[in-house]
Amino acid sequence: MKLFAIFGNPVEHSRSPLMHNYLFNTLDIKACYTKVHLKDGSKLRDTFLKLRLSGANITIPFKEDAYKACDEIRGFANEIGVVNTIINENNRLIGYNTDADGFIQAIQEFKNIQNILIIGAGGTAKALTKRLLQNALHVSILNRSANRLDYFKKLTTNCYDWNNFICSKYDLVINTTSAGLTDNNLPAPQPIIENIMINTRYICDVVYGKKTPFLKLAKIYKLPYKDGSDMLLYQGVLANHLFCDKQISIETTAQIMKRSFELF
Ligand code: NDP
Repeated sequence: MKLFAIFGNPVEHSRSPLMHNYLFNTLDIKACYTKVHLKDGSKLRDTFLKLRLSGANITIPFKEDAYKACDEIRGFANEIGVVNTIINENNRLIGYNTDADGFIQAIQEFKNIQNILIIGAGGTAKALTKRLLQNALHVSILNRSANRLDYFKKLTTNCYDWNNFICSKYDLVINTTSAGLTDNNLPAPQPIIENIMINTRYICDVVYGKKTPFLKLAKIYKLPYKDGSDMLLYQGVLANHLFCDKQISIETTAQIMKRSFELF
């Protein structure tokens, strides 16, 4: 029996166990996926090894700790220093990032996207910014704390905190902060967010499973919007493809995992 887990704080809200366990059950794979509420990111590696995990996902706020915890990093995670998936290869921890590709898959329904504003500057924002820039899109960043913008300033000139934000015209605005996850906060002060709402065509939140204050406002402004459910699905599909050693096709994994959403 292989054991997998998601590490996070908070982690109670995570739907990853349901998605992965549904797939394991459906295909009769001898594996189980659980949640680990971690308080200290520096304990991630020890906890992973003590639990004898075969693999893990990492969520807020430990994706950068996860990068440091690994023995080897493969693929896109190397470019951003952020890991959301770990595979155990003979007690060597191999780190990957599936968030960015999961997100790109999730926004296929939004058409003619050129100019994007990302709110937040954490691990998810790093992954999305780098991938969207690689896809030749124009990206601006808005974050609560100025000190977290240094990474982004090397990638794009349009980096703002709440005090110096200059709003422009956007096709898509993405909330990558955890505001609204366990509280009722907007990801920036209301006047800033309302100004953004009248200057964008689409709204997206990476938080899933609840309508955040950000999405509620998008509805009031009659903007097309979506939450993070599809991103969750596709990053999970890509992670499971690695967990199962690429034995199950991405298409089959997606079809089965999508059905688990009907149980939510
Ligand atoms: P990090 O801890 O790396 O970053 C958190 C970011 O949120 C920081 O920019 C922080 O700003 C900002 N923030 C936190 N609270 C507030 C607030 N009250 N107001 C404004 N800004 C705030 O987190 P991650 O990037 O790992 O995750 C962010 C969110 O994305 C989580 O809610 C997570 O669940 C979700 N997520 C969803 C996925 C999906 O599949 N749908 C996949 C990955 C993540 P500051 O720098 O000022 O502290």
